[in-house]
Amino acid sequence: MSGCKICKSKDVVVAQTDEVISYKCVTLNVPMAYSICLNCNREFITVEQILQNDKAIRDAKKAHDGLFTSVEIAKARKQLGLTQEQASLVFGGGRNAFSKYERCEVSQSVAMDKLIKQALKHPMVLHDLLVEASIAVDKDHLIYKDDNLVPYEVFKAANDHKYKSVKSMKMQEEQYG
Ligand SMILES: [Zn+2]
Repeated sequence: MSGCKICKSKDVVVAQTDEVISYKCVTLNVPMAYSICLNCNREFITVEQILQNDKAIRDAKKAHDGLFTSVEIAKARKQLGLTQEQASLVFGGGRNAFSKYERCEVSQSVAMDKLIKQALKHPMVLHDLLVEASIAVDKDHLIYKDDNLVPYEVFKAANDHKYKSVKSMKMQEEQYG
């Protein structure tokens, strides 16, 4: 907590107010943090609060655009069973991409947002992306399905019969051919 720069008092409290900002022809209410000196009644914004407010605006815009907010993107990554580093390898965007998205320093692209949503929706999309990124698909990588975390092995076992039946059909054809 930084003190008051005018009267040097440490008796400073943090307050919050909703600010109305214009964005794409609409108005968004964004919570803005500021400080009040209880000694001289001065209101001011610390550097930390400026950064925090910038992030709040960024998140409000993303929410309006239907994109994951910083908290949601972290939740999605965890549902996919990925570390921040792995998620950057799987979805692209550079080595520190997810750490920046989750700290709300940078907004993910619309394309990135769509790809993450597809991976959450379709386990095979995530599987292909993991293979593509040379990330070992093992029991540590969970497949997100129908609001439940399904270990990859269970998912694979549930789908194995598809491959087996194709194989046996092929063998029969060969016998008769
Ligand atoms: Zn003061």
